[in-house]
Amino acid sequence: LLQLAAPLNYLGMMYREIKQAFTNMERLFGLLDEKLDVQDSPGAVPLATRRAHVRFNDVHFAYDPRREILKGVDFEIRPGQTVAVVGHSGSGKSTLARLLYRFYDPDGGGISIDGHDLRDLTQGSVRAAIATVPQDTVLFNDTIYYNILYGRPDATREEVEAAAQAAHIHSYIMAMPDRYETEVGERGLKLSGGEKQRVAIARALLKNPAIMIFDEATSALDSRSEKAIQAELERIAEGRTTLVIAHRLSTVMNADRILVMDAGRIVEQGTHEDLVASLGHYAQLWQLQLQAADEAAA
Ligand code: ATP
Repeated sequence: LLQLAAPLNYLGMMYREIKQAFTNMERLFGLLDEKLDVQDSPGAVPLATRRAHVRFNDVHFAYDPRREILKGVDFEIRPGQTVAVVGHSGSGKSTLARLLYRFYDPDGGGISIDGHDLRDLTQGSVRAAIATVPQDTVLFNDTIYYNILYGRPDATREEVEAAAQAAHIHSYIMAMPDRYETEVGERGLKLSGGEKQRVAIARALLKNPAIMIFDEATSALDSRSEKAIQAELERIAEGRTTLVIAHRLSTVMNADRILVMDAGRIVEQGTHEDLVASLGHYAQLWQLQLQAADEAAA
């Protein structure tokens, strides 16, 4: 019997592993199901124009039908303008970015680019027209060169380096022993939050899209990196339709329009000056932020 114990134990281990593999497969299929939700409709056409006028029209959305996250959101971003969204954590800001990139479809209302509902456009053409700089950039276990090239795989070496230069990460890369061939990601060099964002900015620049989505990092960068990244962002947003999801007010002052979200609704909108003068929700948030900055400086 004792002789049998080891193989049985082994079989038990195998059983658990196989069961785990099936669980993973189920998850995989679960994911695929989710993707099917946003598959191209039969008559979908590619997005052709590059004016990129974005419009959210009474958008309702819930991840879980029991809890609505967006409760009728209406706004537009005119071609070339920058709109920034601010509001408490969990108010639904990043969800707007996910819907524009069409990770999900709205449950009510619609989102259009140049008057075409996203559901009537091919997903590939919509995603080709939009570059995102997410909160937390995923790096592949590959070279830093590959990680930037991912923005536009047919770009030349010169274009990759020019994008890295514009994102102010070129000299950092050149200072490493393997330069652009340096391995990054889980198994390679771990980049800091700010460095990862610069890689994402370089990718976005390489893609050269009509629409930019910038989801600001929630984890605080030191204020020098934050200012530098903010300046780069403003430069790359120039002439492009840009949606900035802002987790700090200091980065939105120059936006053409600021939307203030609260519990899934836009409660105020205007320029920084308008909103400060109107003494509402934004003015309060601004006051709190000024106080916090004063306390930190004291
Ligand atoms: P923050 O400033 O903290 O990033 P946010 O305003 O960007 O917040 P969202 O990320 O849009 O907020 O999330 C809005 C709400 O939706 C949150 O309550 C969040 O818990 C919920 N939520 C976000 N993603 C999912 C998801 N994949 N499944 C279920 N609920 C989600």
